[in-house]
Amino acid sequence: MRLPKEVLKEVFGFDSFRGLQKEIIEHILDGGDALVLMQTGGGKSLCYQIPALCLNGITVVVSPLIALMRDQVESLNQLGVRAAGLNSTLTPTEANKVEQRIVSGQLDLVYVSPERLLTKTFLDLLNRCDVALFAIDEAHCVSQWGHDFRPEYLKLTTLHERFPQVPRLALTATADGPTRRDILERLSLQSGRLFVAGFNRPNIFYRVVPKDNPRKKFLRFLENEHSGDSGIIYHLSRSKVEDTAQWLIDQGYTALPYHAGMSKKLREKNQDQFFKEEGVIMVATIAFGMGIDKPDVRFVAHMDLPKSMESYYQETGRAGRDGEKSTAWLAYGVGDVGKIINFIDISDAPDEQKRVERQKLEKLLGYCETTQCRRQVLLEYFGETLEQPCNNCDTCLEPVESFDGTVAAQKALSCAYRTGERFGTMYIIDVLLGAKTERIQSFDHHRLSTYGIGKEFSKEEWRSIFRQLVAMGLLTVDIEGHGGLRLGPNHRPVLVGERSIQFRRDAGRTTLSKKKKRKTEKQRAKSTFDNPSDDALFQALRDCRMGLAKEQGVPPYVIFHDSALSDMVQSKPHNIEEFSMLHGVGEAKLKRYANDFLAVILEERQN
Ligand code: ADP
Ligand code: ZN
Repeated sequence: MRLPKEVLKEVFGFDSFRGLQKEIIEHILDGGDALVLMQTGGGKSLCYQIPALCLNGITVVVSPLIALMRDQVESLNQLGVRAAGLNSTLTPTEANKVEQRIVSGQLDLVYVSPERLLTKTFLDLLNRCDVALFAIDEAHCVSQWGHDFRPEYLKLTTLHERFPQVPRLALTATADGPTRRDILERLSLQSGRLFVAGFNRPNIFYRVVPKDNPRKKFLRFLENEHSGDSGIIYHLSRSKVEDTAQWLIDQGYTALPYHAGMSKKLREKNQDQFFKEEGVIMVATIAFGMGIDKPDVRFVAHMDLPKSMESYYQETGRAGRDGEKSTAWLAYGVGDVGKIINFIDISDAPDEQKRVERQKLEKLLGYCETTQCRRQVLLEYFGETLEQPCNNCDTCLEPVESFDGTVAAQKALSCAYRTGERFGTMYIIDVLLGAKTERIQSFDHHRLSTYGIGKEFSKEEWRSIFRQLVAMGLLTVDIEGHGGLRLGPNHRPVLVGERSIQFRRDAGRTTLSKKKKRKTEKQRAKSTFDNPSDDALFQALRDCRMGLAKEQGVPPYVIFHDSALSDMVQSKPHNIEEFSMLHGVGEAKLKRYANDFLAVILEERQN
């Protein structure tokens, strides 16, 4: 039997296992069953791909998404691994060929859709060959609790009944308690081992910004930290998706829209371009998500608030699957809160569920307003404890000042009350600042005792205060009253001075923290190389990769990941021997590509 460690180096070009990979692989090689819960980008595929190459016989991978299957097969073929996919997109002749290869022992891995797997023909075919392992990817599809329930998954127990001696490995990135129990039960995996790898995504930097002038803020973020990178921007509505895509195009970026209102054909075309070209920004509703397996998405930006911590985690999790530096960026304002509450209220869900959804929203608001390390708050929500602040989020790098806002809160609450609990933030702020507007005059609100009592803060500062009051539940957004603010259930202790309030100082931070912010932005600005000529080399290597990818009609990252290119720039190999030491260069890629890339390095060296 080949040793896992050797396969890792020779085939994949990696030096060491990550996290629980080694333990999982050993467990499988010992003939055990397992359920693996590992976050996106954690390296789940290797957990079955390596046993597939160590064991005799074929590994059958059940995968629900054709696009994902294609990508995996393509990447494996690039590594010189004998893998193929079997699904409804193949012609009968093509499918026949794959089946031939299965029975004649010419494949190490076959990816099949659950429908195909469960056909009599396919099961009979498996009876005639030596099956090493069943890997069940996206295992949460077996559970009705999950959002991607696939009835065919329920029938996968057949595998165990028919092939009791073959080990089974189920894998998923999304499984809360009930889903986890469902998976174990419905796949009859109770006697298998459970591997839980945790939720932390250390390579993702978390940033939340107040939503005033969000486009300007986003553009600065893009230019400073991610110019030329691919990323995803999420919006709540289709029309905003279209607007923002157009706006980015006007700014000179390559941006594409994606939402459920577009034709299937156009959606597929845009998705394909996003995968195959570099530096494309996808502007989308959450319709864009399932099976987004592009490893080099460098940022996920939420222009509108996601609906819960779960959605936020899942959507931001599409960044940085390759483990390289990436950013989750979120712009957040009170207006969004109202919109989401409205979505919840008008849905047909039972009251109990509506209550749960409101609570989930509150948790998310708490995350947005936190003065603590964001990663700690995020992981805490998923039941994990991170002992130390992460030093890779905005609150860690730019500590937020807080201040005693008891009096400010009292002013804000009583002004909302005295104006009749039916006006929105901007109006109430105008009253607090004593603005001379016709609207205020027409309601006679310039005679209120709260008129003009808030001049110690700017408009921007007040907005931040109102956002935090909403997040704390001291004010609630009334949708029927068009976003009017009402007093929340626990306002009394604040108004009578029994409870003091701390606010984070968001807007108009001191000049010191502004300077600090600029500094961290600079530090996080795109990591260019120390030597300017290295930038040119990196670009030349990227061009070479793009050329090869185009020739073969595959996405560039299946040829080499960015990390391999950076490694080439850093170590500038002179020959095949040195090239073989690079990260992500196994034997097949060495043979196929070393000469092309060595030529580029040589040429840049002579310039
Ligand atoms: P998942 O399926 O869990 O989302 P993948 O299996 O696609 O994650 O792996 C994510 C990325 O990490 C891939 O680019 C893969 O090549 C890389 N990777 C996985 N394991 C290792 C390892 N041991 N060393 C280096 N890179 C790895
Ligand atoms: Zn942190």
